[in-house]
Amino acid sequence: MRFADLPGLDKLKTKLLQSVNNGKLPHAQLFLGPQGSGKLELAYALTQYLYCSEKQGTDSCGECSSCRKISSHTHPDVHYSYPVTNPGTSTKKPISTDYIEKWRTFNKEKAFFNISDWVSVIAKDENKQPNIYREETRSIISKLSLKPYEGEAKTLIIWMPEYLKNESNVLLKLIEEPPQKTYFILVAEDSDELLTTITSRTQLVKVPRYTQEETVNFLKDKYKLESTKAEQLGYLAEGDFRKANELVESVEDNYGSIFRDWMIACYTNNLIKSYEIADSMTKQGRVQSQLFLTNGLSILRESLLYKTVDGYQIKAEQEQQDFIKNFSKTLNASCIEKSYKQINEVIYHIKRNANGRLALFHLSLNLRYNFVRK
Ligand SMILES: [Zn+2]
Repeated sequence: MRFADLPGLDKLKTKLLQSVNNGKLPHAQLFLGPQGSGKLELAYALTQYLYCSEKQGTDSCGECSSCRKISSHTHPDVHYSYPVTNPGTSTKKPISTDYIEKWRTFNKEKAFFNISDWVSVIAKDENKQPNIYREETRSIISKLSLKPYEGEAKTLIIWMPEYLKNESNVLLKLIEEPPQKTYFILVAEDSDELLTTITSRTQLVKVPRYTQEETVNFLKDKYKLESTKAEQLGYLAEGDFRKANELVESVEDNYGSIFRDWMIACYTNNLIKSYEIADSMTKQGRVQSQLFLTNGLSILRESLLYKTVDGYQIKAEQEQQDFIKNFSKTLNASCIEKSYKQINEVIYHIKRNANGRLALFHLSLNLRYNFVRK
């Protein structure tokens, strides 16, 4: 991965580039950031730059033999440690290398993943507890005691060192007095789970959450989403690119038609139906409920524009357009605006853990009230 392949984080990238170029890259760094913040990807880009034989000022070339080996995670001097699960078929605990083929494929297919994504790939039972066992720390010590094969330096990337628990003490001496030209990059999410003995021996690099603007641009670039959709999902993703990917993958086009049924139920005072809809959306989870409502917001916005702007072209699928035209005829502008505001408030509350079922049903009653008073 090149720095350019990773969105945002410009300040951090510049700082890391400078420390490599000045020969001052710290021997042990801790990249700490929330889920979906690109910290592991940043570690990959840095490593690739470090080894690239054709550096291009501010980035690796992406094409030399080192770059190719690092991007496929096959460089003999770059090692990876990550949590693994114990299949329990042998008394010997597994080490990361046992799963290296899966790790390579997984990294090729996915970015911004979290620990449960990884566990679902390596374990039959997704609830299996991942670990970095003592056996892994022994393997690390023996790997790093060898001379580099190709370049001058060796690198060890430890993803989720939180799972080292007390085993990390075994590595302390190694991190404190590393063998010649050895770099440690620890990539973690939760500093509370790390022993202070580890954090005190590493240089902290805080990787921030992405901004909403960065998330929207990411969604537009990667999925070619149109602005409104990218903004909706960018808002819901809260700067977490993993969540942003997940939202795009789970967007259901039929939310529009469920919203239509819900509006009709509110309008016709069909409380049973509106409760059923609130209930089924709640069962789909918090994120899906928010998605359903933001989808509804764009329907209301289109209705308002269609009602107030002469010759307005509705931005929606054909089936939706007919509904929006009819819907906007039955309501006045202030009723649409009021409903818009109320829906927006419920999104805010669901995001902050309000009871979704109750919030949606209460919203049904409010909308019903708006429609009656139109
Ligand atoms: Zn290169």
